[in-house]
Amino acid sequence: MNKEGWTTGELAKVLNAELYGSSDIHIHQVLTDSRRLSFPTDTVFFALRSFKNDGHRYIPELFAKGVRVFVVDNIPQVHRSEAVFLLVKDTMDALHDAASAWRSAFHFAVLGITGSNGKTVVKEWVHQLLHHQFRIVRSPRSYNSQVGVPLSLFHMRSGHELGIFEAGISQIGEMEKLEKLIRPTWGIFTNLGDAHQEHFANKEIKLQEKLKLFEHAEHLIYCSDVEMVRNAILHKFQDSKVQLLSWGHQKEHSDIWIEKQRTKGAGTKLKVHWKSKALDVHLPFTDDASLENAMHALAFSLAFGVGPKVLLDGVKRLSSIAMRLELKKARNDSAVINDSYNSDPQSIRIALDFTGQQAQYSKKVVILSDLEQSGVDDAELYPMLAEMLEHRKIDLLIGIGDRISEFRSSFQIPAHFYPSTSAFVAELPLFDLGDSIILLKGARRFAFETIAHHLEERVHQTVLEINLSAVAHNLNYFRKLIRPETKIMAMVKAFGYGAGNYELANVLEYHNIDFLAVAYADEGVALRQAGITARIMVMNPSEESYEQILEYKLEPEIYSLSELYSFHRSVQHYSGEMQDLAVPVHVKVDTGMRRLGFEPEQMERVADEILAMPGIRVASVFSHLAASDDPSESAFTEAQISTFRDAAARLESGLGYVVIKHILNSSGIHNYPEAQFDMVRLGIGLYGISSVSWERHHLKRVSRLITRISQIKSISPGESVGYGRSFKAERSMKSATLPIGYADGIDRRLSNGAGEVWLNGQRAPIIGKVCMDMIMVDVTTIDCQEGDEVEIFGDHISIYEYAERTGTIPYEVLTSVSSRVKRIYFQE
Ligand SMILES: *Cc1c(COP(=O)(O)O)cnc(C)c1O
Repeated sequence: MNKEGWTTGELAKVLNAELYGSSDIHIHQVLTDSRRLSFPTDTVFFALRSFKNDGHRYIPELFAKGVRVFVVDNIPQVHRSEAVFLLVKDTMDALHDAASAWRSAFHFAVLGITGSNGKTVVKEWVHQLLHHQFRIVRSPRSYNSQVGVPLSLFHMRSGHELGIFEAGISQIGEMEKLEKLIRPTWGIFTNLGDAHQEHFANKEIKLQEKLKLFEHAEHLIYCSDVEMVRNAILHKFQDSKVQLLSWGHQKEHSDIWIEKQRTKGAGTKLKVHWKSKALDVHLPFTDDASLENAMHALAFSLAFGVGPKVLLDGVKRLSSIAMRLELKKARNDSAVINDSYNSDPQSIRIALDFTGQQAQYSKKVVILSDLEQSGVDDAELYPMLAEMLEHRKIDLLIGIGDRISEFRSSFQIPAHFYPSTSAFVAELPLFDLGDSIILLKGARRFAFETIAHHLEERVHQTVLEINLSAVAHNLNYFRKLIRPETKIMAMVKAFGYGAGNYELANVLEYHNIDFLAVAYADEGVALRQAGITARIMVMNPSEESYEQILEYKLEPEIYSLSELYSFHRSVQHYSGEMQDLAVPVHVKVDTGMRRLGFEPEQMERVADEILAMPGIRVASVFSHLAASDDPSESAFTEAQISTFRDAAARLESGLGYVVIKHILNSSGIHNYPEAQFDMVRLGIGLYGISSVSWERHHLKRVSRLITRISQIKSISPGESVGYGRSFKAERSMKSATLPIGYADGIDRRLSNGAGEVWLNGQRAPIIGKVCMDMIMVDVTTIDCQEGDEVEIFGDHISIYEYAERTGTIPYEVLTSVSSRVKRIYFQE
């Protein structure tokens, strides 16, 4: 191996693989996710298998895009003679072997960071503190998993002087593997929290597992304030070769001792002692988590040999790390993704992927500044970016800065270049950026906030935040619960349970969902127009919508003979292009819900009729459970399931072909796992809601409804607040008026103390009646200001609690946030 990459022959040796095909193809890029392809000709694709997905499936698609080298555990039939295959026993092990061999070629210092929280921030802050003095390679974003770590290590090059890699685990046995890969010479243990507790018997076991990262390190930095962590580290490493460096508030336990700490304005001042020196540390933060992260970064940098003077100056300017890619609605039906904290090529690739997922916009625009501290020479960097943009089919590039302008001829796509941000902003009105998705990626000194400010819609006071990463997490949680071969239909009816349709459908499609389901044909048409290509079932197709169903290749639910006949007539008369020889339909059987569906006895008749309709084919047969969430109705549910099993079998035997069978909704998935049949229909669970409390810990909250204080008033004893004077102050009070009312979905039953909001760490009861556009809350004991953020529901006031207070269920809460409330989407 050398820094230039590998030939296929060399890689085969590293992997101990059987090589089929040429041994002298040069490879420089490692790919595990087919969607992230940028440089087909010198890429090797590792076909990984996971519980649900199989990378081998993507080989033909990648071959068509020009990839020629594949690491596989099974040689596919296609392209046997044209591609190069490296045959191994386990492709994940092979990825680790390759990364480990790559890592061995470098002998500079490597810092490994683990712990429950703060890994990414500590990594970025060490980088912020040291990048002027060292050439650093680090994990992109939070690439810290069994796949993310190897991919990060492949970014190591011979010019680097320090590597910083995160390690994250969720199970026993994983850290040993990551330790072998990263082989850190330095370590930081951030802290021990409760995340992922479910896979560990207890906290001590989790801690011991995490500490395995440092077994061969030379130095370990940790916070000595928590007794359990301190004792475990001392016990494990005291007599080892690992040199310990602790920081904390207790003098006797800390090499770096924080003697004094006080908040001043928006910052914190610390008096810190280290090696008989007293240092005055100023942090631009006041929260405990930032203090902890900053102290870790500072302690490492001091021990790494950087002078305190330079460091204290750097610490003062640490800037918060945007951990998420946020998509905001912009003017003229556009949207902006502002991702300016990080501007290395890997993070650009990730942001481009997110941009690429937003298929509903007609144009993709990237605004990019000079890249600083990318660790790659400009002459290599800009042509590489040019290729990336071209490959992702970006329609327009705006390049800002001298360096990127100098390389303008590398960019083949339409592009404009400006020396500075202000020069571009002056010409911004000349650009047509309507119906576009716009990615902003700029180094800090280019202050891209000003561009964002010009593009974004006026900030809305009240927004529903939707965490798209949480949706993906929840989908994967349910994938693990079901058998690997069971398909999933995601229910995105009713505007995705209030969480939005395209944005959500995009994420689901990106994660290879099998089917989507909507209530009405219009919703399906809107998804198609936004570029969604997944199969879509329509649950309430009306006769007027049949043309659209056929035109947009939607698949109707059929629940009665009269519906079947009239749909068949439309198929016969349809003059447009047909998707297939036969249109897929979904037969609904009523097994006890008494809502929509054929009676079970009608199955033979339905089969006969459909067999006589050559233009129609049954894709699936399904039924819906009335009480899958209620254990006391399990006898009824079991009866529904058995009626369905029997009806489906009779339909299939009448048709003479096999169809997909499905009956379970979200709560059915955990309560009746034996009734998965071929597919499950996942609704509320996707949005992070469960009817059982143990499952709530596994799901991530998706939606958060927030607003901001419009005005604060002092209320004197005897004064009333709001309509009808239903609230009268008995003492002097302070009230805050919030711009959200029943027209936004705040139930009027929450008036006068029935509802509460969360504000600056405390609950504030609603006083007076809920108005159409506003509510007033009691903030007498809360330190707050106009403009402060207020949570209506989210982390502190859960949707469950909110539903209970209004006497309804989470489903209704989610779907009643009115459409005038702006949705903001983000990925973590
Ligand atoms: C809405 C719906 C679902 C999803 O139900 P959840 O309880 O939200 O999982 C499944 N099947 C049908 C027919 C539905 O209408």
